This record gives sequence, C-alpha cells and structure tokens, in this order.
Amino acid sequence: MALIVHKYGGTSMGSTERIRDVAKRVAKWMRAGYQMVVVPSAMSGETNRLLGLAKELSPLAVTPAVTRELDIVAAAGEQVSAGLLAIALHAEGVPAVSYAGWQVPIKTDATYTKARIESIDGARVHAELAAGKVVIITGFQGVDSGGNITTLGRGGSDTSAVAVAAALKADECLIYTDVDGVYTTDPRIVPEARRLASISFEEMLEMASLGSKVLQIRSVEFAGKYRVPLRVLSSFTPWDIALGEEAQSGTLITFEEDANMEQAIVSGIAFNRDEAKISLLGVPDQPGIAYKILGPVADANIDIDVIIQNLSHDGRTDFSFTVHRNDYARTLEVLKAQVLAHVGDANVVGDPKICKVSIVGIGMRSHVGVASKMFRTLSEESINIQMITTSEIKTSVVIDEKYMELAVRALHKAFGLEQAPA
Ligand code: ADP
Ligand code: ASP
Ligand code: MG
Repeated sequence: MALIVHKYGGTSMGSTERIRDVAKRVAKWMRAGYQMVVVPSAMSGETNRLLGLAKELSPLAVTPAVTRELDIVAAAGEQVSAGLLAIALHAEGVPAVSYAGWQVPIKTDATYTKARIESIDGARVHAELAAGKVVIITGFQGVDSGGNITTLGRGGSDTSAVAVAAALKADECLIYTDVDGVYTTDPRIVPEARRLASISFEEMLEMASLGSKVLQIRSVEFAGKYRVPLRVLSSFTPWDIALGEEAQSGTLITFEEDANMEQAIVSGIAFNRDEAKISLLGVPDQPGIAYKILGPVADANIDIDVIIQNLSHDGRTDFSFTVHRNDYARTLEVLKAQVLAHVGDANVVGDPKICKVSIVGIGMRSHVGVASKMFRTLSEESINIQMITTSEIKTSVVIDEKYMELAVRALHKAFGLEQAPA
C-alpha cells in the first residue's frame, strides 16, 4: 500500500474551518487506499504570536537558557494544530492519532531555534499505520539527546515533512500551501509570475537558499539527499476534486533533467530582505586579514553570506560582508570587542536596509551574457549594485532595500519569465 506524506502550512491550517477542510482532503486520500502521514504547521500567525509573548517578557535576552524556553513556547503552536486535526479526522469517521516530535521521536541536535534533524524512529508510526490510522506528526520540532524540545527554524515544518517522508520511505511528499505551486518569483510581488509545472532540484535548492520562502532550504536538501519525490500544491482547491487531478497539480521537484522540462536560461528570481551589510573601511591589506575579521564572527555562530574585498590603495583596503539582519547588532558588537583593535582601528559602517536579489537557472551554465543582462536591466532602472556574487547557476546582487520590488519586476520582465519558454 502506498504511503503518502502531506504537509499543511499555517494558512492551510488557519481556522477550524480550514482544519475541517484538511481533514476531508486527508480522509479522501485514506479512503482511496493510501497510508497517510500528515505534518501540520501551527495555525497562521500563531508562531509569531507565541514568540511575541516571549519577547514581551524578555525583550533583550537571547541567552542559551532563554532560547531553550523559546523552543518550548514555539513548539506549542504545532502541537495544537496536530491535536485539532486528529479531532477533525475523528469527526469525519477516520481513525487518527497525533504525535509531537519528541514522541516519535524526531531526534535533533541541541541548537535551539535552529536545530537540525539527526534521526527519526519510524517504528511507532509504522505500527499506527498498520493499525489503519492516519498518523499526524507535529511540524517544526524535535527533541535533543537530553530530552529537550527543539525547533527547526522558521518555516521548518517543510523540513519535518520531507525528513519524515525520507525516514518512512514514503512514496511521495506533498507540500500543501496557499499558492498552487512554485512560481518564477513570489506571486505576491509580481502578479505576472508564472507557475512552473516542474523545477529541477538544483534550481529549487538555490531558490530556497536565496530567499524563496515557499520551501525551507533544509527540506530541499533532505529531498535531494534521500531522493524524496516532492510536490508543492494548493490546499485551496476544493477538497473533493478528483484525487488523480490533485496528485498531478502544482509543481514537481525533479531530480533528473528530462526532455519535458522547460529549457529556460533563467528559471526564477529570488529575493531576501533579511540581510544587513557591514563594511570595514581602511583595513591593512595583508595576508590573514579576512580571517582576522570573519574568524571571530563565525566563532560567535553568525552566518556570513556575501563577502567582497576591494582593491587596495596605499596598503589599505575596504572589506564588506552581509549577515542575517537579526545578527546585525551582535556582529557589530563582536567587531568592536574583538576585531577592530587588530585591524588598525578600521572604520566600521553598517547598513541594515539592503536586500539581495538573485536570478537562478541551470541554463546559465551553458549561456554567456546572462549576468550582464541582469546588470544592464538594473542600470536602466538606475539601481545601484553594491555587491555581486555568482555561482554556476545563479547571480545575486545586493542593492538598497527600497528598490527590491522594482528590481524583481524589471528582471522578471527582462528575462521574459511571464511566458513559458518555446
Ligand atoms: P506555508 O505556511 O504553507 O508554509 P509559506 O508562507 O511558508 O506557506 O510559503 C508560501 C508563500 O511563499 C507563498 O504565499 C508566496 O508568497 C511565497 N513565495 C515566495 N517565493 C515563491 C515562489 N517562487 N513561488 C511560490 N511562492 C513563493
Ligand atoms: N510554524 C513555524 C513557523 O511559523 C513553522 C512552519 O510554519 O513551517 O515558522
Ligand atoms: Mg512555509
């Protein structure tokens, strides 16, 4: 009997009405003969609400002791959703049981608020499935080796679902959300964005890592590592549409480049407003300088993204890098406390109001002039590029945040993404 994992996001679980709708959809799959595991997110807004309460009580502190408690608080949202969905399934006459991450257990490391899944024990779930029940597993959370509840980072229910699908060797993982698939860019920013019938795993990985929040990056990594068949589709189609039609809808993440795939050079545009830029002006241009600056930042567990170092003049150079905006203040503190005195008392300037806009496409491997077309398009809109970074299948630029939407729209148009490639 085929085993299918469904994941429902916050909007899809956003009210008791929506939860009833999810229960009816899951019941339809169950009655069609599938074994069903369902991974729900917290009801929309709930994780923000819970974390907001914590912040009211502790506006500044992010000590390890507090982050442990943040995870207890945040994980509660998914626990409520899971229990409510089980109750809704019972009301539909379908046997169902819900498990919190720690009950499965989904084991993670101990990095509170952004823990990584290490292993999942499928025994209990398989036993419940064999007993004919729908098994509901909370998204977004697990348990560390000390028995503490952990959460997987914002958007982490996607990762829970794909990891559960991998561990249970599910036949498919379906990510139900509030859009009907993966688009050429966020349809909230560009109404002309077009749904992709399929997207290669590599492109999806880049899109997710560069800021497309439709799938959390780690979920795509898991799908790649364990070859989990993955599809993104809408939970807002009528629940009683034909199962065959539903199963083919949305966007399929493909692992092989097949002949049916779109042959676009640029497949999508991603953007990320969560970054901040920091520059050290006039640092000595000598071996080891990058390490002197970034070593202490990395030691403070701060992720660094884009880095550039300018040409030197008179033995000095300027060095810039970006970090997550939440880490901006802490990075400045680290630089002041541990770095500046060792780099000739360089000047630090920061800008938390930047964003990163990226074009992504495997066609960029075999085509030249794609990046220059991007730069030309931005220059025609008088948008100044502050930093550039490239890889084989993407080019990213850092620009002033206030031009983000303009840049994304202009690039979407310039690369003709509103039309399917011939
Ligand atoms: P969920 O609560 O179901 O996990 P999310 O809000 O996390 O949903 O992700 C879905 C949202 O992702 C969409 O509403 C859309 O605004 C946004 N999004 C960003 N980039 C894309 C893209 N390329 N394609 C589709 N949606 C995107
Ligand atoms: N509820 C969590 C969040 O809001 C996890 C998720 O929705 O995927 O980030
Ligand atoms: Mg999400």
